[in-house]
Amino acid sequence: MHKMKILLLEDEQAIAETIIYAFESDGFSVSHVNTCQAAEQRLRNEAFDFGIFDVGLPDGTGFDLCKEVRTFSQIPILFLTARAEEIDRVVGLEIGGDDYVTKPFSPRELVARVKAILRRTNMAPEQSTPPEATTGFTHNAQKCLFLFHGKNLELTKAEYQLLRALHSQPERVFNRDQLLTEISDDYGAAMDRVIDAHVKAIRAKLRNAGAPDLIETRRGLGYAYNPAVL
Ligand code: CA
Repeated sequence: MHKMKILLLEDEQAIAETIIYAFESDGFSVSHVNTCQAAEQRLRNEAFDFGIFDVGLPDGTGFDLCKEVRTFSQIPILFLTARAEEIDRVVGLEIGGDDYVTKPFSPRELVARVKAILRRTNMAPEQSTPPEATTGFTHNAQKCLFLFHGKNLELTKAEYQLLRALHSQPERVFNRDQLLTEISDDYGAAMDRVIDAHVKAIRAKLRNAGAPDLIETRRGLGYAYNPAVL
């Protein structure tokens, strides 16, 4: 079985050791770094399943690192926040973090949280993606096409990239910043309206193909691919 790989960014050695011990006892593999720079380098060059980031670090904050990481990776990230940083928790989640734990915490609780997030993010797509043969909705990754009952939706590159991201993780809500990273090679500026316009265009093309509205708007949150309407 695949051993889950965690990248731990924590500059306090004692805390790091407790965390490493808890996760390794539970069958995880943990790589530990002390600085944002080292963490970014590892994340760019290796495949990890999960990131645990302390917030206050010698060369920056875990939040800034998360923002950077979200430009190239969607791995789940959990923050370790101190009480004084309480206000920043919300910020942490807004910039793409998945959860936070306030120090001091029990290592067992931390392991439980990480497992819950991994279940949510890893298992959900496999469980809820209905077989394409029964829904009529097909993704051809080689040809970069979406088809409904054999009919090509004829999406533009950005529309295709957006729909691909949503489709890859059914029911997961992507906020507009996360969706922007999917098409960021086409657009430098982070503008919600760009995403809204593309989603609108995808919907029109779905309609033209006779497909139901597969993209659900989650008010104030973003968009999600919803196979339940098929
Ligand atoms: Ca620290």
